[in-house]
Amino acid sequence: MKREKLVIIGSGPAGYTAAIYAARANLNPLIFEGFMTGPSGGQLMTTTDVENYPGFPEGILGPDLMSSFREQALRFGTRILTEDVESVDLSTRPFKIYGSSTHVEAEAVIIATGATAKRLDIEGSRDGEFWQKGVTACAVCDGAAPIFKNRPLYVIGGGDSAVEESVFLTKYGSKVFIVHRRGELRASKIMAERAMNHPKIEILWNSVIDKISGDQVVRKVVLRNLETNQIEEKDAGGVFFAIGHQPNTAFLKGQLKTNEAGYLLVSKGTYTSVEGVFAAGDVQDWIYRQAITAAGTGCMAALDAEKWLSMQGVE
Ligand code: NAP
Repeated sequence: MKREKLVIIGSGPAGYTAAIYAARANLNPLIFEGFMTGPSGGQLMTTTDVENYPGFPEGILGPDLMSSFREQALRFGTRILTEDVESVDLSTRPFKIYGSSTHVEAEAVIIATGATAKRLDIEGSRDGEFWQKGVTACAVCDGAAPIFKNRPLYVIGGGDSAVEESVFLTKYGSKVFIVHRRGELRASKIMAERAMNHPKIEILWNSVIDKISGDQVVRKVVLRNLETNQIEEKDAGGVFFAIGHQPNTAFLKGQLKTNEAGYLLVSKGTYTSVEGVFAAGDVQDWIYRQAITAAGTGCMAALDAEKWLSMQGVE
């Protein structure tokens, strides 16, 4: 197996930023950018306008932003493999990385595989239906789009994200409905009160959305009350899933410490529980989850890896 100084797994803002910094530090990084696990570029590839990434006053399309990240990583000599990492062996150094066709050894590894927003399989919400045409899983990324302006918006979920995203959406929608499957929010008390006291938010308890319909964009939702079984069709401009995220760590098979929700635990910046393995981006961030914070921790991971490698005498 060929031995690499630094392997980066994942190709969102965190992975590419780590690559830019590592390549400029002469670490000659190799990225596994993924293939079947999702598009290279991560979650921004399924977003339209990104208006909160600094440096783009007019906004930029998510896929364009990620293609610039990728080009910048390539410019400094990053090597990119378009394949998934299926498993890793972090029990001894050098670490072993098993891609779908390439197997390499690595002195250091940066995990930047991100997280996937959970979606529900509601009629009308699927790819090719209204997904990204009014149905999304990120209010902060997509909420300011003109299609949501002054329209009734529906947020599915009952946790802190659902409340936070609903409050955010009140700036755009005519009214925001939280559709929660139970009669009590999971969100923290302070957040729950914020939702319940907000004049533009109404909580639809014990409810689900059965169907989303429209023309070019979302126009209607069919709501069902789980207690009464009453069904109602309502006007809608958008549906936002806020039912949590799943960090992409299955390929690690429990070799790194995680919290209860499966996010990688880091300390001293980006050090994971195995020395020489660093984590950046949403795979270790269950709080901020923004492109800019992912890029920031990608930079940190590259600097941490560079310093750690030099302490090991790997130049
Ligand atoms: P979460 O706390 O896991 O809540 C997920 C919500 O989605 C729950 O209310 C759950 O319903 C609902 N849900 C899950 N699966 C569903 C399904 N199949 N159908 C319908 N509803 C479903 O996730 P989160 O809100 O994303 O928060 C994740 C973590 O980040 C939490 O620790 C949270 O405190 C933290 N966070 C903090 C802040 C903040 O402090 N500002 C903001 C965002 C997130 P049930 O309640 O019935 O299970």
